[in-house]
Amino acid sequence: MAAKLTEIFGMDVFSEATMIERLPKKTYAALKKTIKNGEDLDPAVAELVANAMKDWAIERGATHYTHWFQPMTGITAEKHDSFISPTPDGKIIMEFSGKELIKGEPDASSFPSGGLRATFEARGYTAWDCTSPAFLREDAAGVTLCIPTAFCSYTGEALDKKTPLLRSMEAISTQAVRILKLFGHDDVKSISCSVGPEQEYFLVDKAKYLKREDLIFSGRTLFGALPPKGQEMEDHYFGILKERIAAFMKELNEECWKLGILAKTQHNEVAPAQHEIAPIYSTANIATDHNQLVMETMKKVANRHGLACLLHEKPFAGVNGSGKHNNWSVVTDTGKNLLDPGKTPHENIQFLLFLAAVLKAVDDNADLLRLSASNAGNDHRLGANEAPPAIISVFLGDQLEDVVKQLVETGEATSSRQGGKLNVGVHTLPKFNKDATDRNRTSPFAFTGNKFEFRMVGSSMSIAGPNTILNTIVAEVLSNFSDELEKAENFDIAVHDLIKKTFTEHQRIIFNGNGYSDEWVVEAERRGLPNIKSLVEAIPTLVTEKAIKLFEKHNVFTEVELHSRAEIEFETYSKTINIEAKTMIEMASKLYIPAVIKYVSSLAASINSIKSAVPTADVSVQEGLLTKASSLLATANDALVKLQGYVVEAAEKEGQEQALYFKQVVFPAMSVLRTPIDELELIVEKEVWPVPTYGDLLFEV
Ligand code: ADP
Ligand code: MG
Repeated sequence: MAAKLTEIFGMDVFSEATMIERLPKKTYAALKKTIKNGEDLDPAVAELVANAMKDWAIERGATHYTHWFQPMTGITAEKHDSFISPTPDGKIIMEFSGKELIKGEPDASSFPSGGLRATFEARGYTAWDCTSPAFLREDAAGVTLCIPTAFCSYTGEALDKKTPLLRSMEAISTQAVRILKLFGHDDVKSISCSVGPEQEYFLVDKAKYLKREDLIFSGRTLFGALPPKGQEMEDHYFGILKERIAAFMKELNEECWKLGILAKTQHNEVAPAQHEIAPIYSTANIATDHNQLVMETMKKVANRHGLACLLHEKPFAGVNGSGKHNNWSVVTDTGKNLLDPGKTPHENIQFLLFLAAVLKAVDDNADLLRLSASNAGNDHRLGANEAPPAIISVFLGDQLEDVVKQLVETGEATSSRQGGKLNVGVHTLPKFNKDATDRNRTSPFAFTGNKFEFRMVGSSMSIAGPNTILNTIVAEVLSNFSDELEKAENFDIAVHDLIKKTFTEHQRIIFNGNGYSDEWVVEAERRGLPNIKSLVEAIPTLVTEKAIKLFEKHNVFTEVELHSRAEIEFETYSKTINIEAKTMIEMASKLYIPAVIKYVSSLAASINSIKSAVPTADVSVQEGLLTKASSLLATANDALVKLQGYVVEAAEKEGQEQALYFKQVVFPAMSVLRTPIDELELIVEKEVWPVPTYGDLLFEV
């Protein structure tokens, strides 16, 4: 297997190695320069790259190419064109020009634009992102050459997730390089952000999935009572993989490896039927593209194994939901991780300055970070009774917290706590050095050794958004730090004072305790930390004066783009809840209510026939059930009628007002309909229940 793995790894990628092999030396060097230093791309270079890419793809069986992009839907989009070009003799040749490589023209009017594009203003462009490698995809349509691209409107506004991410990477690079110059690192020309996203997901049986309209239309169950067993035995986490799951994971890994995705870790997660995959980290842009590919590949491979992959943040009420841990660090082009504290962080002034910058960035912009991890699905997790909390805080761990404390209290840090040896009291077991710090699973933003782990991101979300925000807010602090330090007469003293001042001012964001506890909510409020309860309440943070100034300063979003994105967020939320509500209405009226009517009718018929056979027979059990089921049926029907009315009402509204109506009126009405139906599920005969239950879905994989 090992030999085979090294052979298949990256075989479907127009990789560095393939480029070296197929491009003229000069062309390759010019392309690398563009990738590394962000220089403009020479059209002549594009022409040669296009040709080499085409030859490579055709040798591998490709007939089509596509500009692969990431519109504001949060998933990817593509339009396929074949390579064919007619010749005068009525035949064809296979062609692909530099122009076709660098620019595409999909219709922009049918993607979410938040008012930026009206239906009659259709023109949009996709532009080749040469920093993320092209790849091949094989499916029923044949083999397609996929070219990662950015997507913008005719007027130049970003209509996608990639463009702002790339802009934010430039912003943080520019500002970090300024700081590093002050430390004497003139050799550093750029920095990049490394990202490793841990992806959680559920796998359920496909045949059962197809019997649940709620899973099909909304990605989550909208009804369903808890089975006798949930996750309380804690036997699934890291448990042995079931055969079918193991086969799925094997194939998923292979597909990922072919695409050059560094799939590394896999295991069962906390909830039954829940699993995780994590790659080795890469540059934020590539990590984002790869994570999209991982999500697409998981769905595809699951299908081949008779499984359905659920990426929703909360597919099952009462059972742990899924997130995506976004591990993030900043690395210089000379290979140094700026968040690596070394053995003695108290002496590592440069590290402490970057640490201070991240703390300040998170504290100053907790609202934006919260928004960046929000969607309708994640509302069921953040701020509900599940990890992680909606309040942003930073976990530093014992060692760093101690260094910060020394600095704040005495103005000087003179020591760093060390982990020491771990001794488990068995002679035959090895003794090893333990980490200087324990872990904290409840923190939304945790320092874990040499990176920060942003744990709030939803499992179905693109990681472009969270990383765009992270990069920008840190760029802003670094820029202000540079402004201050560049003016300083004595750099050493100025840096020291700045670190101390920053830690002192932002201590409130540090929290090493249990983020799930009620006491923390009270304590956070005392500290003045924002506790934004839901997506709809978080969206306006995108268009505050402060946010507009911040994003415009770093050329990440224009004011117009921010307004359009806020509008898209409101719209997407409304559409999501609307679909959920309509699915509930459909399921209640066409499945649950008719099934219960059948059940109570058969109970009534049985009572009548028993009574006519033996007038004195005891039918109290049947009568009790009949009364209870009929009463729940009436309650359900009332709730159904109300929900129908609210959905009609909601359609009359728009924008923020509509989103608020969905959240405050429609969403609670959905729970009111769910409750009696879930109760009915517990008393109605299993045979007549019209859909697979939680028990069927979660335990029979
Ligand atoms: P943990 O167990 O602390 O979560 P892992 O080693 O499992 O750490 O890593 C989780 C994810 O973090 C992986 O995707 C890994 O590649 C990524 N990661 C590790 N180091 C870094 C780093 N310096 N920057 C960004 N991501 C990183
Ligand atoms: Mg982790």
